[in-house]
Amino acid sequence: MCAQVDELPAGRAANAVPFIERQDAECAWPLWDDATPMDERKVCGARRADPDDDRRPYCVGHERIAHRPPETLDATMRPRVVR
Ligand SMILES: [Zn+2]
Repeated sequence: MCAQVDELPAGRAANAVPFIERQDAECAWPLWDDATPMDERKVCGARRADPDDDRRPYCVGHERIAHRPPETLDATMRPRVVR
């Protein structure tokens, strides 16, 4: 099980879309935490790194983060909850 992925780096929330409205080609990076009501939960929504590859559900930026342990992230990449 990987680290919590309920947050995103600063400045990447501009394209956030409601979880239930996410399109196939959009990044599925979750932007909520356990306290966020189900109907307010959003995902990143940026274009996926490779929309044709089902094994790559994230945009380039989140894909990079997803494959790094949280302790290696610097301050600008550190997670931030968006509501
Ligand atoms: Zn993303």
